[in-house]
Amino acid sequence: MEATETVLCSLLAVDLTDYCYRVCSRCQRVLPSDNNGLASSSFCKFCKSKEPKLLYRILMSIATDTSVKTVICFDRAATVLFGCSADEFFHFTKLNPLAASKVNQVFDGEMLRMTLTRPHNRNAQHMRVTSIVPLRSGFRPAIVTLTHICSKNASLGNCSTTNHSS
Ligand SMILES: [Zn+2]
Repeated sequence: MEATETVLCSLLAVDLTDYCYRVCSRCQRVLPSDNNGLASSSFCKFCKSKEPKLLYRILMSIATDTSVKTVICFDRAATVLFGCSADEFFHFTKLNPLAASKVNQVFDGEMLRMTLTRPHNRNAQHMRVTSIVPLRSGFRPAIVTLTHICSKNASLGNCSTTNHSS
């Protein structure tokens, strides 16, 4: 039996140090992660595809009315918060290196309704987030707010390390 619960919570923090993993875009198998170099993990041994894609897998701290806990959020639910795919977010943070550090400011205290599922694997530490519904009427996904911040700051050089050639 799956134990599922729905909670109202505020988002305390998201951990972006290791927020995504790579799968084959054709067969969806997880590709081995590499510690150095990128070439080794983009080729799928099973279907011979060379088209990897990134999916979100993010640890988040949330506060409910009774407790603070760490949960793990996978791709579908995370996309609601970020407003773009993990690939798009990855490239966005490459272009705007400081954007990732602003994510927690953007999300600070965001009120959410989350559906949490206890994982089948008893060794798994964290409950999984299977859906997220933002409760604030003015909620905007992270990518929208970050794009706004970064374009506003671009002329000051606050959000980008490019364009220093001139
Ligand atoms: Zn494949």
